[in-house]
Amino acid sequence: MGYADTHAHIHFPRFKKDLDDVVKRFKDTGGEFLLNIGVNIEDSKKALEYAKKYGFKAAVGVHPHDSKDVDEHFLEHLQDIIKDVDVVAIGECGLDYYRNISPKDVQKEIFQSQIDLAAMLNMPLVIHIRDAYEDAYEILSCSDLPDPPGVIHAFSADREWALKFVKLGFFLGIGGPATYPKNHYLREAVKAVGVQNILTETDSPYLPPQKLRGRRNEPSYVRFVIEKLSEILDMNYEDISKITLENALEVFKR
Ligand SMILES: [Zn+2]
Repeated sequence: MGYADTHAHIHFPRFKKDLDDVVKRFKDTGGEFLLNIGVNIEDSKKALEYAKKYGFKAAVGVHPHDSKDVDEHFLEHLQDIIKDVDVVAIGECGLDYYRNISPKDVQKEIFQSQIDLAAMLNMPLVIHIRDAYEDAYEILSCSDLPDPPGVIHAFSADREWALKFVKLGFFLGIGGPATYPKNHYLREAVKAVGVQNILTETDSPYLPPQKLRGRRNEPSYVRFVIEKLSEILDMNYEDISKITLENALEVFKR
């Protein structure tokens, strides 16, 4: 049976030495769909190149941290990359007020322009939100959105926010943090929305599941997320992996 990792950065330097092995472990253990994610224009080209090499798909966009560095032509550059059939989503884009590496107003502007592009092309969004749920919701609920709108990646808020974003049509991206002992609120959010609104993800090389904390995360570890989901939702592993894979294929088709 197959499963999906809808958020990984396999082109990042931490996979440089052993990426073939990492990908093999993913495929050998049932990995069927992987979305490789870019964080700025140059990085998105690389994300796409690596996705194509291994038969995966790519999302291209500008991360909130990178928002301050784009030039005025970045949307045209993005559209050039999007012409490739293996690009199936726009992102990751969003708001990150935890680290505020780019000023808030710049983050908002670059986020909005990518939402508008996604709506125009009817291509789903991969959204990064950290300590900015209020503003991100405000922006998204006032914007035209693609259909389906996409995913709130590494969802990290409570059940109220979960239900609000699901109501807008978003899937919630659930990964390693759902396995961390202190994150009860996140497991409550998972219960509230149910498996039909969830996408599985790793955010590799970041956010490893509890039993591998401190180590580099990799796509095959999404199995530990599925295990946790089956515990939280009291469903068997096979059903969770099947339904979440179907969710991924439904959102990220082209
Ligand atoms: Zn990411």
